[in-house]
Amino acid sequence: MYDYLIVGAGLFGCVFAHEATKKGKKCLVIDKRDHVGGNVYCENVDGINVHKYGAHIFHTNDKAIWDYVNQFAAFNNYVNSPVSISKGKLYNLPFNMNTFYQLWGTKTPEEAKTIIESQIKEFGSKNPENLEEQALSLIGKDVYETLIKEYTEKQWGKKATELPAFIIKRLPVRYTFNNNYFNDAYQGIPIGGYNKIIDGLLKGIDIKTNVDFFKDKDELSSMAKKIVFTGKIDEFYNYKYGNLEYRSLRFENTKLNTENLQGNAVVNYNDSKVPYTRIIEHKHFEFGKQKHTVITKEFSEQWTPEKEAYYPINNDENQKKYQAYKELSLQEPHVIFGGRLAEYKYYDMHQIIASALQKTKKEFN
Ligand code: FAD
Repeated sequence: MYDYLIVGAGLFGCVFAHEATKKGKKCLVIDKRDHVGGNVYCENVDGINVHKYGAHIFHTNDKAIWDYVNQFAAFNNYVNSPVSISKGKLYNLPFNMNTFYQLWGTKTPEEAKTIIESQIKEFGSKNPENLEEQALSLIGKDVYETLIKEYTEKQWGKKATELPAFIIKRLPVRYTFNNNYFNDAYQGIPIGGYNKIIDGLLKGIDIKTNVDFFKDKDELSSMAKKIVFTGKIDEFYNYKYGNLEYRSLRFENTKLNTENLQGNAVVNYNDSKVPYTRIIEHKHFEFGKQKHTVITKEFSEQWTPEKEAYYPINNDENQKKYQAYKELSLQEPHVIFGGRLAEYKYYDMHQIIASALQKTKKEFN
């Protein structure tokens, strides 16, 4: 008899299993996929770690979380500095003095600020009623039209005027020549890929892949005293209150006999006539020197229940449904719900690790 059956070998399930094992508990980790690691899983393609479920860059401000992941892998000093292509021109991201120079030729913060402030003024003082108005009120029309509008419309499959304003809460603007996408104190890619961290977390723990909890729920549940469930909460309750909706992604991977295709790990494509949102060139995450390269074109797609669920759609209807499922989950004495699918919430990796550590602390203290 196991102490815990852990459904889902993503970061949440793996951190929980690791901490429970340290406390002397016996765990079985299952996953319906044919591998462990959940969405941080890397597939080795001829020596290049391909981020199979989308580009993952680790970043955190929390020293304890940074030390935690560094137990399992050393990190390189990769800094995420994406670029964006719009109407044939290339721009640095996030919006900073380099971007403003590329847009307007401005060389000082004061020159750039003057343009941005005058464009924000053009929008006036009305309350933004949709994403387009929100962006215009925060950054003005040039940055919006060149680098936000069409990219966002591709991401969500909707016109910016039909998207709610709250999707953009703030737009980080930097009046320095700094292309580092994140502001966090710690950032990097685990040397050898994320699988190293997952393998370290799961060392010595029983694992079964290709096992879908719902195909054998009763038997699997009878194998352990408690369940840690990291799958979809609506599926756990047999969609009693309906499906929780997501936005999905499709990835097209290609191996090329080129040493360096785009010179950067992440290149965004703003224009609506380009069907994908970005191209990832994976070797650059690890400063690879191979003679070949592997690229992934990322397409944003309408989600249907048979597709992978990536980004929760946080509107009132879905939040209401989630709250109803959450109410049910609070009445389960033997099931712990955690992770992005069970909590219907977008989490970065450092946040999911913090959340799993918090849940284990509650369970074992
Ligand atoms: P998952 O990794 O999704 O794990 C859940 C696991 O449960 C899956 O393996 C699934 O197969 C399994 N499962 C589900 N149902 C069942 C079932 N019925 N039976 C058995 N197994 C089941 N974070 C960052 O910090 N930096 C980034 O750059 C970054 N980039 C991202 C890019 C994309 C495109 C996406 C979608 C996310 C990104 N993230 C990033 C977030 C990161 O992926 C998550 O924080 C993390 O993977 C969440 O871990 P999890 O364990 O909650 O979920």
